[in-house]
Amino acid sequence: MPASAHPHRSLGAPSAGRLSSGMGQAGGHAGAGGHPGGHSGGQGGHPGDMTAMTKGCLAGQAVCFVSHTGEVFPCGYLPLSSGNVKKIPFPQIWRTSKIFGDLRDDSKLEGKCGLCEYKKVCMGCRARSYGTTRNYLAEEPNCGFIPLRIRGKTLEAQPVA
Ligand code: SF4
Repeated sequence: MPASAHPHRSLGAPSAGRLSSGMGQAGGHAGAGGHPGGHSGGQGGHPGDMTAMTKGCLAGQAVCFVSHTGEVFPCGYLPLSSGNVKKIPFPQIWRTSKIFGDLRDDSKLEGKCGLCEYKKVCMGCRARSYGTTRNYLAEEPNCGFIPLRIRGKTLEAQPVA
């Protein structure tokens, strides 16, 4: 979806310099091949000053969305406002929001995501969990993977491929 057609604006992980430059300067979807808050440099990626952060769910960790009314959401698909930039400075919302804090703490993940050996690089889709259960920390409902701990195995016991 072109940025102009999206109801929200995507923000990459803020740094002091980028925050002070205003939200209009923040990186969004970078066109073909671009990834929010992800790859730096290169065609379709972000400018070289972006810190690379690529994982499954980036909501509240490397991206967020600000609505046209100023509401700040972890992502465009997770309709839980963490504040309004008309009332609270964006850096304060970004740094102190409980929702954003929860999304940055994989120890709070519940169900099989909380037990999963891949949770640090995946975290499931927090918006999908919320959409299904109204709990953004619930296990990802569309994942068919069964973590080793649920299978009663350990990482150490796995043969090297
Ligand atoms: S259980 Fe699935 S969705 Fe959840 S962290 Fe593991 S791989 Fe990701």
